[in-house]
Amino acid sequence: MANSNGASAGITFQLTEEQKMIQKLARDFARNEIAPHAEHFDKTHEYPWDIVKKGQELGLTTINVPEEYGGLGLSLFEEMLVSEELAWGCSGISLCITINNLASLPLLVAANEAQKQEYFGRLVDGKMAAYALTEPSAGSDVLGIRTTARKDGDDYILNGTKTFITGATVADWFTVFAYTNPEAKHKGMSAFIVDRNLPGVSVSKPFDKLGQRASDTAEIILEDVRVPAKNMLGKEGDGFIIAMKVFDNSRPGVAAAAVGIAQRAFDEAMQYALERTTMGKPIYKHQAIGHLLADMATNIEAARLLTWQAAIAVDEGHPSIKLASMAKSFAADKGMQLCTDAVQIFGGYGFITEYPVEKLMRDMKIMQIYEGTSQIQRYVIIRELAREYS
Ligand SMILES: Cc1cc2nc3c(=O)[nH]c(=O)nc-3n(C[C@H](O)[C@H](O)[C@H](O)COP(=O)(O)OP(=O)(O)OC[C@H]3O[C@@H](n4cnc5c(N)ncnc54)[C@H](O)[C@@H]3O)c2cc1C
Repeated sequence: MANSNGASAGITFQLTEEQKMIQKLARDFARNEIAPHAEHFDKTHEYPWDIVKKGQELGLTTINVPEEYGGLGLSLFEEMLVSEELAWGCSGISLCITINNLASLPLLVAANEAQKQEYFGRLVDGKMAAYALTEPSAGSDVLGIRTTARKDGDDYILNGTKTFITGATVADWFTVFAYTNPEAKHKGMSAFIVDRNLPGVSVSKPFDKLGQRASDTAEIILEDVRVPAKNMLGKEGDGFIIAMKVFDNSRPGVAAAAVGIAQRAFDEAMQYALERTTMGKPIYKHQAIGHLLADMATNIEAARLLTWQAAIAVDEGHPSIKLASMAKSFAADKGMQLCTDAVQIFGGYGFITEYPVEKLMRDMKIMQIYEGTSQIQRYVIIRELAREYS
């Protein structure tokens, strides 16, 4: 549609036929392969290898690996469609499948040709990878990391501990952030690809967790690990900027997963409200419940649109850290409230593990924490707004 100047607004909410196919593939996979097994993996805390392997066969573990390296080469917007659908099935299992997208991002941002050939190649061959930024004393405070990388001939010697690393127990390689020059702060941080089998690398047992229990979260300990200099991403001092660019891409992904969980919670609550009767009518006809459901559905639409906007900004070449933070905090915070409301709509049954909504509420909580907490997203949003208005 053209405006009065004849220029196109460039906005459409219609998916292309190809995007509809991608969405349907992910939706079918979530409904047929993920959702029926979600309870089992939540209860047992086992790693869902069989499901991950099936996802690999469809290319779901190499969604953002460019086609020339054998991946699906989807846009970030298309990745959002997939992430939402998979998280609808179970966000823990979905995270096991999609964690390679996060691990791949530093390569997309900064890898040279040889690094892409080798490490994208491994993902396409069925290997998994992990992204290791957080440390026991530094999560929000990225500059507070203590891992060091000391140059020694043609290698760097890495020492430090990374914690809460998704996929660490199954990863073949990690992207690791370390200081090559701690005094230089953000200009002294560098990023490395670290092979899991190098001497000095060890991985802890997975942590037990409140939610997303199918996904493994563990510590990586690096003790005098000799990493070849050719495994550095970019050049010395590029690590902090690589980590920040990764957030532009990764935060919309968390927002999309939050929308997927929220949509599932809404679907369950709406169905229940149609069927459950009290005082002679279905509970959705009690205004308190009906309006709650109306707000839930509205917030899902708003969170989805913000997520799409943040992703499309990346695809169109003008990534916005502000939009990414808005999408992530809005989807996570509204989603957390929405899941709590879904439990409320189920009444006593909502609290019982036989029913699906208590798991959704537990799974949603992490959306407000990883890839930057909701407080940190607001810190970013106001920082960017202050820049715009100064
Ligand atoms: C299940 C799980 C999976 C994860 N996966 C990964 C992964 O794959 N890779 C990875 O690198 N990391 C991962 N993380 C780490 C995650 O990103 C961090 O836990 C998160 O960024 C918060 O850091 P923290 O835990 O150190 O909390 P802290 O930074 O210590 O924050 C504690 C509290 O203080 C608040 N706070 C801190 N600073 C400020 C501030 N400046 N202003 C206002 N409030 C503030 C926070 O919002 C929070 O409420 C994962 C974590 C979990 C639990």
